Amino acid sequence: MLIDLRSDTVTRPSAAMREAMARAEVGDDVYGDDPTVNALQAEAVRLSGKEAALFLPSGTQANLVALLSHCQRGDEYLVGQQAHNYKYEAGGAAVLGSIQPQPIEADADGTLPLAKLAAAIKPDDIHFARTRLLSLENTLGGRVLPQAYLQQAWRFTREHGLALHIDGARIFNAAVALDVPLKEIVQYCDTFTICLSKGLGAPVGSLLCGSEAFIQRALRWRKMTGGGLRQAGILAAAGLYALEHNVARLRDDHDNAKWLEQQLQSLGVEIAEPGAQTNVLYLRQPAELAARLGPWMRERGVLISSGPLTRILTHLDVNRQDLQKVVSLWRTFLQQHA
Ligand SMILES: *Cc1c(COP(=O)(O)O)cnc(C)c1O
Repeated sequence: MLIDLRSDTVTRPSAAMREAMARAEVGDDVYGDDPTVNALQAEAVRLSGKEAALFLPSGTQANLVALLSHCQRGDEYLVGQQAHNYKYEAGGAAVLGSIQPQPIEADADGTLPLAKLAAAIKPDDIHFARTRLLSLENTLGGRVLPQAYLQQAWRFTREHGLALHIDGARIFNAAVALDVPLKEIVQYCDTFTICLSKGLGAPVGSLLCGSEAFIQRALRWRKMTGGGLRQAGILAAAGLYALEHNVARLRDDHDNAKWLEQQLQSLGVEIAEPGAQTNVLYLRQPAELAARLGPWMRERGVLISSGPLTRILTHLDVNRQDLQKVVSLWRTFLQQHA
């Protein structure tokens, strides 16, 4: 068995999750007839306190559909320079929605300073795009946005007539790290996404949550972008299973990331952002060493995206014993390459 630390997207559905998928009652979700999709969406509503939820194939599509539903052609969204829905989604909002991103440099804690946001809001003038939306990401690079910041950002958007979207691919990691229910985080946004296919362990799927009217608009964009699935209950069953069984255990991933950080630190590995809050670690390595580490580890059954800045993620398919093996291999590697 490979030990795969490249991402938490590599998690595979467990036997019990597959069983839930096999047993799922299904219908045609484009007609709104799939009972398992409806149950998953209802569960997202219950957990979030939002009015409605929509199941989509991927987090990228969920963000795209959210941006398309918030903004019109010629509108603009304020977003972090390192945000997934600015940098890692192939420019979808601009390409497909004619929506202009206004990237903002984040502070060290991952927050977008309100003064910078205020300065970036365009006046109502024919020269400018219309600033419509603030998009935040929680967690961002494994960091949890402070609740006090979210509250301020929420108030800020109310004062400036903006909507607030949270890319919450790993929002349950934030909730578990803060030890608060999801509701307490998402009370400070109009809309947010959840990825079921990362640390939660489902093979496919994301959720977009918001008001009833917003989700009605999103439904049309989901259809247009090819995200209307038919007997999707088989996939939604995995999501329901994940929400029931795989949320509280995210704490193990966080503990494992902390443990790994300490172990690597004691081997002399430089931690780029010490103090792992969730399941993400960043390491800095000399470029030449980093280039050798990846293939060396791969030969020994460990997958790491090794580079000058290396991102490592813990997840439900990697336990403490696996990590002990990784640390022991790493020690050997450093001894051999000293
Ligand atoms: C993974 C991720 C997404 C996109 O999810 P996919 O399902 O891979 O398309 C969006 N935002 C963030 C922050 C992510 O980590």
